[in-house]
Amino acid sequence: MDIIVLNQKATEKNINHILRKLESKGLKATISRGTEKTVIGVIGDTSRITEEEENAVRVMKGVEDVVRILKPYKLASRDFKAQNTIIKVKGKVIGGKKIPVIAGPCAVENRVIMMNIAEKVKAAGASFIRGGAYKPRTSPYSFQGLGEEGLKHLAEASRKTGLPVVTEIMDPRDMETILQYTDIIQIGARNMQNFRLLLEVGMCNKPVLLKRGLSATIKEWLMAAEYVMSKGNQEVILCERGIRTFETATRNTLDLSAVPVLKQKTHLPVVVDPSHGVGKWDLVAPMAKAAVAVGADGLLIEVHTNPENAMSDGEQSLKPDAFKKLMSELKLIAKAVGREI
Ligand code: PEP
Ligand code: MN
Repeated sequence: MDIIVLNQKATEKNINHILRKLESKGLKATISRGTEKTVIGVIGDTSRITEEEENAVRVMKGVEDVVRILKPYKLASRDFKAQNTIIKVKGKVIGGKKIPVIAGPCAVENRVIMMNIAEKVKAAGASFIRGGAYKPRTSPYSFQGLGEEGLKHLAEASRKTGLPVVTEIMDPRDMETILQYTDIIQIGARNMQNFRLLLEVGMCNKPVLLKRGLSATIKEWLMAAEYVMSKGNQEVILCERGIRTFETATRNTLDLSAVPVLKQKTHLPVVVDPSHGVGKWDLVAPMAKAAVAVGADGLLIEVHTNPENAMSDGEQSLKPDAFKKLMSELKLIAKAVGREI
């Protein structure tokens, strides 16, 4: 709430009332009386003014509009920290010149499949392995993940390949277990506004990959990042994975404009997940290339050795050969925009 625009009917009494309200919040004001409009500039740290307080001013007599200049998210904003946040995990870097690729199956299905996929993605140049052990499935009758057993397979695949692990948490009660096996904690799209879960991962000492909610605006997404950061964990990686629109030709609509928008608004690294964004394997490569072209700091790509029989998201999973081909094609795009894969 940085600028309060008054309407022509505003009286001196109205203005004094607003000034007293600001004073009660420890804020000062300057008044500029124009021929058309009078404007109050608010001085002081307005970042702690809540949306409710802002709305209370908005409905005060004589007020036409309230323009907020300081963002409602602070720790996540570029105004607060101008330099890009760079996150280092076991020798891998997210937010630097090199664009890391997180690859693996949607779900960890068994040891053999997990080990096999991990070796294949490593050979193709992936920097992280992924796989869900706790799966957020739309149907309670679908495969829900192997739980801790799945985490053990991930950890073994990580030891074998040397690639760090990204896996999803759905419930704060699994935190202790998951932390023993993972290097980055994923918050899935469906939990982007699970505020208790956000606060919980905000208290742990591992980076958080925060996926964009199915119908979340960029502001809501950044507010979710702020929840994590408000508890002390500054290592948040944003992951665009497509949003719900009226379009049905793709599973979601991959909002690649979110990447340059976020680059202006936040210092946090931005990863793009074209797999969930499009939902079809043959659309993944073009969108992955586009993501690199618009400035993504990383990619998340689902890979499966046998997509036809995958227990989840087979239709959007690349076979290892297609993944390998994509990785080599991405090199050229990365080079064109001053990055590396
Ligand atoms: C996933 O990464 O497998 C997943 C469930 O993604 P999202 O939360 O984006 O749907
Ligand atoms: Mn998936």
